[in-house]
Amino acid sequence: MRARRCDFHMHTSMSDGELLPMELIRRSAAMDHRAIAITDHASFSNLEWIVRDVAADCKKADAWGMEAIPGVELTHVPVRYIDEAVRKARKAGAEIIIVHGETPVEPVEKGTNHKVVSNPDVDILAHPGMMTIEDAELAAKNDIILEITCRKGHSLANGHVANMARDSGATVVVNTDAHSPSDLSTMQFATTVARGAGMSPEEVRAAMVSNPEKLLKRLRRS
Ligand SMILES: [Zn+2]
Ligand SMILES: [Zn+2]
Repeated sequence: MRARRCDFHMHTSMSDGELLPMELIRRSAAMDHRAIAITDHASFSNLEWIVRDVAADCKKADAWGMEAIPGVELTHVPVRYIDEAVRKARKAGAEIIIVHGETPVEPVEKGTNHKVVSNPDVDILAHPGMMTIEDAELAAKNDIILEITCRKGHSLANGHVANMARDSGATVVVNTDAHSPSDLSTMQFATTVARGAGMSPEEVRAAMVSNPEKLLKRLRRS
């Protein structure tokens, strides 16, 4: 059967994205997405209401034959408080937790990647930038997924992240980090981004099809 797109990193007007969750879900359905995660920027100030409000629209995605998963992207949380924020996000009902990693284009606190891959309750380390092989190995051990990103700027380190994942055995997915309707990606475009990061056709297939399947299974269990 033909594989459909899964995208686990997307923003709405609940943070700095353009669309309401419902419109993001509609546009994703119209582009034949199988599943999306809505992961607005969150910290202690807003994570409870974001998760609650986004979940209200996610529950209606079944009308269009797709899954929408309410989550958060913990963003610029001080390293020493990341574990606390993860606990709080789970308690608030976040079904997927991703954390804004050490992208080359923002002053993310050093040590964020290491703290994130040390916490098995995190699902995805987003745009990890120039991560170390030790942190990639820890991600593999704790089953934290590394992200190849379609987002301009963050994507500058994609080739390095793909190498670290290959050398450590860590799992990879390809996300858009969409903020606008034009950021949504087809299977074809996401494949081009992953191939451009130096991934082989087999690695791309895993990142686009089997790894998303595994993640969806894990999210349903929790
Ligand atoms: Zn981010
Ligand atoms: Zn993001």
